[in-house]
Amino acid sequence: MKLYALARKINKKIKQRRRENAGRYLSPVRRLERFSVPAGEKIVSMTFDDGPMNMPINPVTDSKYQDWGLTRVLIDIMGEYGAHGTFNVIGTTEYNYPDKPGELHKPTWSGVKHDHYPQYGKDQYAGAKNQGDLVRALIENGHEISNHGYRHVLFGRNNIVYGSREHFSNIQEVVEDLTKLHNLLKNEFNYEIIMSRPPHYIDKIPDGFTSYEAYALMGYDYLAASFDGGGWMPTVGDYKEDVRKMVDPIKNALKNNPNSLNGQIIFQKDGYNMSLMTPVATALKEQLEILSQHGYKVISVRELKKLYPFEDFHDVSKNFEIARDLDQQGFILGYKTNEFKPDKELTIGEMIMMTLTKQDYKEDLAKICNSKKDKSMYLKHPYYIGCKHYNRLDLMDRLDTVATKEDIRRFFNEQLGIDPVISKNTLKRFEYLEALSQLKK
Ligand SMILES: [Zn+2]
Repeated sequence: MKLYALARKINKKIKQRRRENAGRYLSPVRRLERFSVPAGEKIVSMTFDDGPMNMPINPVTDSKYQDWGLTRVLIDIMGEYGAHGTFNVIGTTEYNYPDKPGELHKPTWSGVKHDHYPQYGKDQYAGAKNQGDLVRALIENGHEISNHGYRHVLFGRNNIVYGSREHFSNIQEVVEDLTKLHNLLKNEFNYEIIMSRPPHYIDKIPDGFTSYEAYALMGYDYLAASFDGGGWMPTVGDYKEDVRKMVDPIKNALKNNPNSLNGQIIFQKDGYNMSLMTPVATALKEQLEILSQHGYKVISVRELKKLYPFEDFHDVSKNFEIARDLDQQGFILGYKTNEFKPDKELTIGEMIMMTLTKQDYKEDLAKICNSKKDKSMYLKHPYYIGCKHYNRLDLMDRLDTVATKEDIRRFFNEQLGIDPVISKNTLKRFEYLEALSQLKK
């Protein structure tokens, strides 16, 4: 598995650089990795990818679960601890043929051209399309459903691990696939999905857009994770070892610092691993036992985000409650990295963008996707969308400069018909929240 380790290392570096860039601009879609939670509370989230799955756990270590499908086992264990997860489900992989089965213990174990869940040739046993009863059971038990793609097709190319994989070629195809699963949940289960994680975290779509634009068009946030719960990694098929690899990281993290998992999102798998085993069926109970011993509550990402929406900010003395309220109303307040940066000085671009709702943004972005000229302007500066919205392209070359009191007052007067009370000559981002609160519906 040397190649796989190398790929992980390269990925980590790319991620770091991307994060620095992502922290520069406000975005309607935020990458939810972790949240800033006051030290007095202990809350954590868990996500489960690639299910729901209705094939037996392997091996069966508890006779109670003889003949149970994996997702039912997870629901049962979570229920014992009053824990609520975020299940990042697929629609079905049954249309991903013709294909060939891959090699066991390798990343392409489930198929060469595509993924097949829970296993090659057994596609009907996983996914919301064919496993509606499991989706219903998840919702009835208070778990969150998120969108992992209807067919689990890669958004774009990844030459390092999945060079022979097929992928989408443009944003329209990605949105069509996401919409199919979104509508399935809405129409058949009366459930509204609000976040998504791309298959294998591949973000770049070949037409120049990324998963962030696709998610903006869906009205989604980007579901990431900060803590790898394991259970999916390349293994040699040693079950006990696989379970240990899922439990030890959590145990050690809490031993070193009992508060360290506060506000984090733990990544897990609702399916077979690369050795066709389900270590999560044993490890989950041990993980939840340790977490509960340390006083943690396990809640869905949706609930966690509602309480503490940002990665770096929960300070009530800096208008946190106004920010949370505006966030709930759909205003664009945070950076792609899910930071708020309360003490950063407000720029002209941010002044404009923060007055937009995600709904405004979605409508403007849809138009931009259909125009070559608009698209190239948008790819040069993401705040083009705000200038275009207010018909203020004259502000384009001042987007990154600090906004003065005069700039803010004029913009509010001319564009929004509001006369804001502003005391200082320039504002920190948290101070601007007071002016914004006048926009509340
Ligand atoms: Zn997946």
